[in-house]
Amino acid sequence: MEKRPSGIKPESWLVSAGRASEPGAPLNVPPIPASNFIIGREREYSRDDGTPTWEALEEVVGGLESGKAVAFASGMAAIAAVFDQLAAGAVVVLPDDCYQGVVGLAAAGAERQRWSVQRVAVDDTAGWIRACGVADLIWLESPSNPLLTVADLEAVCAAPRKPGAIVAVDNTFATPLNQQPLDFGATVSLQSATKFIGGHSDLLAGVATTKDDALWHALRKSRELTGATPGTLEAFLAVRGARTLALRLQRAQQTAMLLAERLEEHPLVTRVRYPGLPSHPTHAMAKRVLKGFGTIISFDLLGGAEIADRVCRNVRLIRHATSLGAVESTMERRAAIPGQGHLPPSLLRLSVGIEDADDLWVDLDSAIRSAAQ
Ligand SMILES: *Cc1c(COP(=O)(O)O)cnc(C)c1O
Repeated sequence: MEKRPSGIKPESWLVSAGRASEPGAPLNVPPIPASNFIIGREREYSRDDGTPTWEALEEVVGGLESGKAVAFASGMAAIAAVFDQLAAGAVVVLPDDCYQGVVGLAAAGAERQRWSVQRVAVDDTAGWIRACGVADLIWLESPSNPLLTVADLEAVCAAPRKPGAIVAVDNTFATPLNQQPLDFGATVSLQSATKFIGGHSDLLAGVATTKDDALWHALRKSRELTGATPGTLEAFLAVRGARTLALRLQRAQQTAMLLAERLEEHPLVTRVRYPGLPSHPTHAMAKRVLKGFGTIISFDLLGGAEIADRVCRNVRLIRHATSLGAVESTMERRAAIPGQGHLPPSLLRLSVGIEDADDLWVDLDSAIRSAAQ
């Protein structure tokens, strides 16, 4: 697997990485639907040894995160492979605001007494630093979902930790363009490539990246033994999507800032959470650790859950759908989801896509106004 040379910027790497270079080779690594290969070289069976298509995705993401990557069937498969590293009785520390799948996975393991789980507030840096002294797995997610709180990754990743402890960062919301957790000292960085890397809501894939060679081998082994392998077409599409990540992110981020500012002025909106707004509780931290403020906005409405549901039904250009990080804008009311009862009932999470910014604003504003009538 090739590493990104220091002179090549991430934006160029996204376009150039994961390509063959032999004369006559196709410019793009094709989807290679192979379970097995003729014996005689290192590659014999794809679940054990990977395929060139998966490796193209690993090269692209690994080079962005500055480590060695392992591609998985989904973000959760990559995350489960990290949890798979824990010995019995391990201590896991999760953020208070965290992707529901991770909370569910941790709770299921705790129920079977495989590990115990503690929670720390995303922005409680002192709490995280204390947790580093006792935890076997520190699980960070920043910006968090859906409150978009930004953690002091720099401080937490540099804190003294228990020998052998893993500091994992779910880097899905930031993308490797806005944040490089491994450079702060995290052990492993996770991407749900289903989101921004793929970028078109048409695949499930995940990637775990680490600079730690032993952990890289262990994650490969876990993939082999659990069979959490990426799909061939999915890996191909994820690479294809990644080619335009920098452009998509730049555009959607610009629009997100504009929409966040306009929402903040809206008479029917009571609160806007976007790390780029000076009013955001962790705006100063966001400016320090992130290269961009991202494409997700959460906002609350006057009138509660009922109005928010109506807004979701009223939007036309924006789609009422879950998930995020794609070319199309999507929105949903997060508290409507089981297990999310701690959130403000009217909180809408908007994932801003690459449509025209004014068109999005007109859609959003008229959906809110007609919902309130
Ligand atoms: C979607 C998501 C995941 C899980 O990824 P899947 O590809 O759906 O398995 C994990 N973390 C975050 C922050 C996500 O948004």
